[in-house]
Amino acid sequence: MSAPAIKAESHVIDGKAVAAAIIENVKQARDQLLSAVAVKPGLAVVIVGEDPASQVYVRNKGLKAEECGFHSVQHTLSADIGEDELLGLIDNLNEDPLIHGILVQLPLPKHINEKLVIAAIDPEKDVDGFHPINVGRLGAGAMEDALVPCTPAGSVILAKQALGQDLSGMEAVIIGRSNIVGKPVAQLLLQENCTVTIAHSRTKDLPGVCRRADILVAAVGRPQMVKADWVKPGACVIDVGINRVDAPEKGEGKTRLVGDVDFADAATVAGSITPVPGGVGPMTIALLMANTVIAAARASGRPDIADGVKNL
Ligand code: NAD
Repeated sequence: MSAPAIKAESHVIDGKAVAAAIIENVKQARDQLLSAVAVKPGLAVVIVGEDPASQVYVRNKGLKAEECGFHSVQHTLSADIGEDELLGLIDNLNEDPLIHGILVQLPLPKHINEKLVIAAIDPEKDVDGFHPINVGRLGAGAMEDALVPCTPAGSVILAKQALGQDLSGMEAVIIGRSNIVGKPVAQLLLQENCTVTIAHSRTKDLPGVCRRADILVAAVGRPQMVKADWVKPGACVIDVGINRVDAPEKGEGKTRLVGDVDFADAATVAGSITPVPGGVGPMTIALLMANTVIAAARASGRPDIADGVKNL
């Protein structure tokens, strides 16, 4: 048997450029909402404690919301806040007519029940898409009502950009079965008529399963786990992982970000591949802005205004 053809160079998917196009759509929808119903989309981000990575994410979300011309508020709560106090704040935000999207930055401190907090958010303002009602809507294909989790939505948009809009009949393998990434990515790819496999820590012959994939999504949290010989030649590889690793080559104590895919290795085989950083990461924040404008348009009785915001 002859060896499979190896591509000399993969097409690197530019997540920043695709995210910028989504943000342009968001700004247009914001303008239309303002002129049609005098509504400015409002996003509230709640952060509990001082986890440095979470603080960076929250700051970036606030800056992007301001760039989009949203009403943007941040609530920074101390790590020892009681669960009741946090639930009280969420109640207030649920009732606030200027706020259309509420995001509680995860993880929360151990003494706070995360599930309870997510369930307390008004599902129509749940721009992370983690509320059980939105999980159910996504599973049932009720997309006109659902708010879809941002990272999964961004991952699928990138795959469609790389492969053309029609993914029908393609084999998709997702490594990782988390509620926030793996499972919603699987639901979205199923809706795109892919044949979907969810692989996880107990999957047998993981490299062999991955080699079946026309679309391989890695959402594991293990630096550079996916190697070239896990990738079907020509496949589209979407790397959701964000892992900080030591980078002694940059100097003592320095670190760098890598994905769950060994980019340099896998890129020799893949047809298209997302880099880390600069792939899925920028899409997550762009889709958060998209969900906020969608929630604002629905709340204002003009869902049509944000209908096409995720279409490119
Ligand atoms: P998680 O820890 O909740 O889930 C990881 C999944 O990987 C689990 O389902 C587990 O079964 C599977 N897994 C673990 N070890 C495995 C192994 N050896 N082989 C096969 N499967 C294995 O993680 P998560 O929240 O889904 O996040 C996954 C990665 O995506 C992380 O690196 C995270 O930082 C990143 N992430 C990125 C963004 C973004 O904006 N780009 C957003 C969310 C998460």
